[in-house]
Amino acid sequence: MSDSTRSKTPKIIAVANQKGGVGKTTTAINLGAALVEEGLSVLIVDIDPQGNASTGLGIEAEQRGLTTYDLLLEGAPLADVVQPTAIDGLLIAPATTDLSSADIEMVRNDRRSHLLHNALRQPAIGSFGLDYILIDCPPALSLLTVNAMVAADSVLVPLQSEFFALEGLSQLMLTVRELRQTANPNLRIEGVVLTMFDGRNNLSQHVEKDARAYLGELVFETVIPRNVRLSEAPSFAMPVLEYDPSSRGAQAYRALAQEMLKQSVPVGA
Ligand code: ADP
Ligand code: MG
Repeated sequence: MSDSTRSKTPKIIAVANQKGGVGKTTTAINLGAALVEEGLSVLIVDIDPQGNASTGLGIEAEQRGLTTYDLLLEGAPLADVVQPTAIDGLLIAPATTDLSSADIEMVRNDRRSHLLHNALRQPAIGSFGLDYILIDCPPALSLLTVNAMVAADSVLVPLQSEFFALEGLSQLMLTVRELRQTANPNLRIEGVVLTMFDGRNNLSQHVEKDARAYLGELVFETVIPRNVRLSEAPSFAMPVLEYDPSSRGAQAYRALAQEMLKQSVPVGA
């Protein structure tokens, strides 16, 4: 894509599921890296107090400086929070455990649901030349996740291929529907992506069949296989696309990025 056809406004996607360990952070990092491989510029906004996306991209706690806590609650300029990563074109707004008190602190603020929305619409955002912002959400339908969904154009839901996976989804969809009626009428579901899929396992196949039956086209054709390279990569502070570019995990996230780009609705359309 040439610079002249790039949209000036980045598309903002909240990677959300209130369950922990379903592949949100893995998806944010590796989908981000795959979009960068496509020549796009991506900012990952880490709003999980565990800061796994920050660690996984090699930003150690002591290097984090100003974080998304400062962005949301101290009015820090975005430009002071965003850091480069080892991958050209992939930026991160890191998080630390400071953020664990954010939910309580935000409640006092009248604009509590819009703090991230406003922070990501600071005029300085234009200077980064971003195509995508991926928000890595915490494992709860908390005020932080609501902030992500109010800030976002769409929600991408990683769904672990395991029993009860679909149960939590109805609560998440309800939250999306409520926000559509209130704070963010244009919020879309970007899609549901099956993660940690094991094709030899009946349960995985069952979850896939159910997800496609209930959610239809919302489910990406691409499924992310269970792949040990994906779980190793963060300890080497790299996306799997860098750590083992030909692994099944890397190939799957490339396919996901391509599928998403193909179906993508331009911002403002
Ligand atoms: P969340 O952000 O939803 O809590 P993570 O992305 O951190 O979930 O994933 C939970 C754990 O599972 C991590 O240790 C991660 O490395 C591992 N993991 C995620 N996706 C896969 C996969 N497709 N195959 C193997 N391990 C995975
Ligand atoms: Mg996570």
